Amino acid sequence: MRFYLDLSFVSGQHINEILNVINLISHSPINSQEISPEVPPLYFEFEFSGSIIEFENALRLSLERNSITEYKVTQDSQKENTLTLLKSGDLGQLGIYFCDFCGAFFNSEEGKYIHERAHYFF
Ligand SMILES: [Zn+2]
Repeated sequence: MRFYLDLSFVSGQHINEILNVINLISHSPINSQEISPEVPPLYFEFEFSGSIIEFENALRLSLERNSITEYKVTQDSQKENTLTLLKSGDLGQLGIYFCDFCGAFFNSEEGKYIHERAHYFF
């Protein structure tokens, strides 16, 4: 399956570190923005032989193994098959709220609670 990874919330100093981690995950990069030392690519397209959940878990595990704990892997609720890396400390400022169950994120606290209620019925 084809997945997308949005690194636009990752700060410049961490991009290379995170890219190294991503390279450890078995995948074939299809396309990325032109690589230039001044403007690192922020949006990646991947071919990965599993589901988006497996890709998300592989990414999360690799980040943990490399002690990159300040970023949270999450699925973009607006774009299909897209994972986003968000820095934990920035979440409040960005106005982003996470579902405690599945990690989906919302831009209002209300949206988060409405969504979370759905989990109780399954
Ligand atoms: Zn959820």
